[in-house]
Amino acid sequence: MIVLDAMLGRLSRYLRLLGYDLICVSSDLSDDIIIKEYGNYLILTRDRNLARKAPKGIYVISDNVTEQTKQVLPILPKPDHEKFSLCTICGNNLTEVVDRNKLPEYVPKDKDKIYYCEKCNKYYWYGSHLKNFEKSMGKIGIEI
Ligand SMILES: [Zn+2]
Repeated sequence: MIVLDAMLGRLSRYLRLLGYDLICVSSDLSDDIIIKEYGNYLILTRDRNLARKAPKGIYVISDNVTEQTKQVLPILPKPDHEKFSLCTICGNNLTEVVDRNKLPEYVPKDKDKIYYCEKCNKYYWYGSHLKNFEKSMGKIGIEI
C-alpha cells in the first residue's frame, strides 16, 4: 500500500493503472495526523515538510504526471495487481463484463474486453485514455 497526498491526483490514476494499491489522503488532514495514521507506509507527497517528517516520506519534485511517474517508479515495490485491473477512481478490482446486452449506450460494443467497477458504476475499455497513458509511459522508457 502506498499513500499519496491530494495534490497527486493524476499520479494516483497512473499508479492504479499500473496495478498499485494506494490511499489518497485528503488535503484537510494535518501532516501530524497523516503521519500518525499512515506513517508505516510509503508516503508520496508534493509537500516538502511532510516528506521530511514522515518516516518513509518521498518528496515528488515535478508537477507533471509523466515526470512524477518517472521519479517514483524506480523506488516503488512491485505492483500489487496486474496492470489495468483496478478502477482508477477508487482502486476497486474491475470485473470483466460478460453479458454485453446490459451495457449502457455510451459504452462501445466493438471492444475486445470491457471492464466494470461496481463501486463507481463505471465502465472501462481500451481507448484513447489508455493510449495516451501508454504513450507518456513510452516517453520515459516504460513498456506497458
Ligand atoms: Zn471504482
